Amino acid sequence: ATPTAVMVGTGIGAQNGILIKGGSHLETAHKISAIIFDKTGTLTTGKPIVSNVNIFGNLGGNSGSKMNRKTFFQMVASAEAASEHPLAGAIVNYAFEVCDVQSTTPPVEFESITGSGIRATLAPNNIEIMIGNLKWIKSEGISYDASSPDRSAYLANNDSDGDESAASLAHIEDQVRRLESDGNTVVYVVIDRQLMGYIAISDQLKPEAHATITELSNMGICTWMVTGDNPRTANAIAQQVGISQVFAEVLPSNKSKKVMELKKMGHIVAMIGDGINDSPALAEADVGIAIGAGTDIAIEAADIVLVKSDLRDVITAISLSKTTFNRIR
Ligand code: ADP
Ligand code: MG
Repeated sequence: ATPTAVMVGTGIGAQNGILIKGGSHLETAHKISAIIFDKTGTLTTGKPIVSNVNIFGNLGGNSGSKMNRKTFFQMVASAEAASEHPLAGAIVNYAFEVCDVQSTTPPVEFESITGSGIRATLAPNNIEIMIGNLKWIKSEGISYDASSPDRSAYLANNDSDGDESAASLAHIEDQVRRLESDGNTVVYVVIDRQLMGYIAISDQLKPEAHATITELSNMGICTWMVTGDNPRTANAIAQQVGISQVFAEVLPSNKSKKVMELKKMGHIVAMIGDGINDSPALAEADVGIAIGAGTDIAIEAADIVLVKSDLRDVITAISLSKTTFNRIR
């Protein structure tokens, strides 16, 4: 293609809300053979809402009564208000709008563990609260096993009869499994090292996600999803959009390794993402594509920006590349 043709191509892209940061990226676009999609904020709207709550623990461990919903969300929201994760926003909104929480108190200490959850110390009694995924909660030695001392203490406090307790634990695990299989992300709440409950959060798929994946498959392009979320939730979302290959429980620092893996397999790889977390992978990809509504850092790291945040513009960009470089067969 002549320099003029490339200029025309990038110009047409710009007019259609596809910002291509250089002729070389327009040229690579028609060679893309695999695309990795980030989940949250890329395939989904990134505006999650709380869909389900189960509070089953009690503070102090000997009252026998479950923790009050408002008290629970007062503490949870105070911790999550310090987090920037989209899940945190969903939880804080729910606390205010549904649970009648009036205000939050900034934690005395706060730590965000990437890909895992948050840990905070709350005023005035220095109560420790942890909110995050099961893998992390387990790795912190909070047991989710009926036979463990922690767990049986909780169970003994809540149910008079051992068999019933085991049944209720199985029931909780069953509920969580079902929620995850429906595409919900479930986070657990641990207060003073006792498992107190879980919160399920769901995020809407973007309306054009499924059609975009179908079209890309028809074009012979392999599609993958990458997420920090657990495999069950990840696979449910992937199935809903028609993606069959999933990298789940990937720490943000490892997203770029997945790009490298596909490159090593001989693919020309595009990565599509919106988050700060995605920037190294966007930079590593042959073509990094940022969602326009995403973070500035992702937009900066990308080669192409979908200004309208519409996934179908990936297909438009590839078509434009084919036209510009006369690769229409
Ligand atoms: P993704 O953007 O794909 O959801 P992240 O790495 O940001 O991946 O998060 C992975 C997981 O870490 C979440 O699914 C959740 O289980 C946990 N997590 C992260 N931040 C928080 C938070 N503020 N509160 C509770 N859990 C969190
Ligand atoms: Mg994201």
